Amino acid sequence: MSVTASSPAVRSFHVSRSPSHKRVSKPRVIMSAVRSSDSLGVAPILTKLKKDCATPLPVLRHVADAMAFDMRAGLAVDGGSDLKMILSYVDTLPTGNEKGLFYALDLGGTNFRVLRVQLGGKEERVIATEFEQVSIPQELMFATSEELFNFIASALGKFAQKEGGNFELPQGRTREIGFTFSFPVKQTSIKSGILIKWTKGFAVSGTAGKDVVACLNEAMERQGTDMQVSALVNDTVGTLAGARYWDDDVMVAVILGTGTNACYVERADAIPKLAKRMSKSPITIVNTEWGAFSNGLPLTEFDREMDAESINPGEQIFEKTISGMYLGEIVRRVLVKMAKVGGLFGGSYVPEKLITPFFLRTPDICAMQQDTSRDLEAVESVLYDIAGIKSDLSARKTVVDICDTIAKRGGRLAGAGIVGILQKMEEDSKGVIFGKRTVVAMDGGLYEHYPQYRGYLQEAVTELLGSEISKNVVIEHSKDGSGIGAALLAAANSKYEHDF
Ligand code: ADP
Ligand code: MG
Repeated sequence: MSVTASSPAVRSFHVSRSPSHKRVSKPRVIMSAVRSSDSLGVAPILTKLKKDCATPLPVLRHVADAMAFDMRAGLAVDGGSDLKMILSYVDTLPTGNEKGLFYALDLGGTNFRVLRVQLGGKEERVIATEFEQVSIPQELMFATSEELFNFIASALGKFAQKEGGNFELPQGRTREIGFTFSFPVKQTSIKSGILIKWTKGFAVSGTAGKDVVACLNEAMERQGTDMQVSALVNDTVGTLAGARYWDDDVMVAVILGTGTNACYVERADAIPKLAKRMSKSPITIVNTEWGAFSNGLPLTEFDREMDAESINPGEQIFEKTISGMYLGEIVRRVLVKMAKVGGLFGGSYVPEKLITPFFLRTPDICAMQQDTSRDLEAVESVLYDIAGIKSDLSARKTVVDICDTIAKRGGRLAGAGIVGILQKMEEDSKGVIFGKRTVVAMDGGLYEHYPQYRGYLQEAVTELLGSEISKNVVIEHSKDGSGIGAALLAAANSKYEHDF
């Protein structure tokens, strides 16, 4: 799998809540109506949860070491480890000298984004940029490949027609596109890749086994859209390229959103499985597909049950432990058990809504953790508005404690994974990572919006590296860098002669 990245396979599990459960009103709960929680029943479950989720330094160290080990195994041979270590075919990084007009297309969910950027070289950098978001009509998700790509090609064409102002294409040139396609793809060159399967609710016929770049190029030809794909990129790779454009010290990119993935700059001579494909460049970007990592993770009965009931049991275990799609669901499963056997919401009362998988989302647990009020009023509202739960203060405290336990484990393990990658790079070239400033470019809604998670991630990195070395490792949020990154990779791989 290649250009899939941070998109988990089971987004179709998401449950949409009826409007009546949107957070519109404060619960009208008077204290006498509040059910009291049976803290005696809750305590042992909470204690066991914390024990099973614990990530003390030795656990973090094991995870970092195992990540580095699995990376090597995956670089040695295809199928050598949980980590696919996919070669991205990106072996030139943005320099800042890129010049000209380039486009990017990001297709990975119910929306796609189109972007154009006018690059002005070292001095002028990004002269202008414009983007549009287009939602994909539901019926096209079940249409034929031609119908879907025709729609995309036509939207791209319309977007290109609005080009003007600061955007300028030299006479006689075709517009070139960097194509970020977040579905499982086996990449075959910088501008070709075979779709393995659609995910995320797409069931388009006639694309599997085909080159998605050819599909798009052919559709553009049919639509009379004078554009061509110059680079097919994974979203982590786009993020790395986008961040590197501004900062030469960027060596790793990580996405923590609905799903998770990471890529990094690898030495070509450190990739045994590359030997056959003589590379001209000394470096290449490797897409780790680290969501599939599983070695030595601290897991609970709740993780195991969630995995067993998922559409991909036994797969993407790291992703299921640390990414945004799953954190809320793990908390929900703990709450159900505590309600059932621990009397969390009084007796053995289990709120009906709480039984529905994926009903509690990561933004909900995040919102509850932001509550600093003495009575935990926001927690009360979230529980009531989402699931009609009436809670007393002690129950609300327990809920926050569970959210914190799950977010803490996720953030700390993500941090250990990052250290694993850095450690592997450092082992191969002493001083290149820890002996100077190194930047990890980070993107994704989970990292962006969940301050506690972010804090735990940083805390684990500092614990593992020690205060001195960790000063050299800068984790930087690179918001939406992947769009410009894809356009930059289109520039680097332009069919026209260039000197950047
Ligand atoms: P995607 O990963 O689907 O490409 P994003 O990078 O925007 O998209 O990440 C969206 C994910 O980020 C959501 O699925 C959710 O898990 C997480 N997320 C979004 N908002 C919040 C929030 N306020 N708190 C915690 N997590 C959030
Ligand atoms: Mg994304």
